[in-house]
Amino acid sequence: ASLPSDAPTIFDKIINKEIPATIVYEDDKVLAFRDINPQAPTHILLIPKLKDGLTGISKAEERHIEIIGRLLYTAKIVAKQEGLDDGFRLVINDGPSGCQSVYHLHVHLLGGRQMNWPPD
Ligand code: 5GP
Repeated sequence: ASLPSDAPTIFDKIINKEIPATIVYEDDKVLAFRDINPQAPTHILLIPKLKDGLTGISKAEERHIEIIGRLLYTAKIVAKQEGLDDGFRLVINDGPSGCQSVYHLHVHLLGGRQMNWPPD
């Protein structure tokens, strides 16, 4: 796990198509692609194309409210596209104790198997 930082991350390379990713949804503001190390049959990451200082949800400012809402709304669109009609889980890890490893805000969309609660 890396320390929190506002430095560019691997997700910038995915946004700029400098490294490959299996993109499942893209518009002018949001990109969604399959996680390289899936924890469920469907495991997709939704990210803002413009990071704008949003290394994680704990760094959210008022100016980020619209993109945060858009990420969650897009997660619903992608869940439907993936056929997750029986349910799914959205996760945002934050900081070292939250197991965040990439410091560019992302929402995990997990589905295709029974999820457990509490998660660990
Ligand atoms: P976090 O631990 O920060 O919540 O989630 C970061 C996620 O990014 C992890 O689930 C990890 O597997 C995924 N990831 C890291 N590097 C890459 C990559 O290069 N490509 C893709 N598709 N996913 C990645």
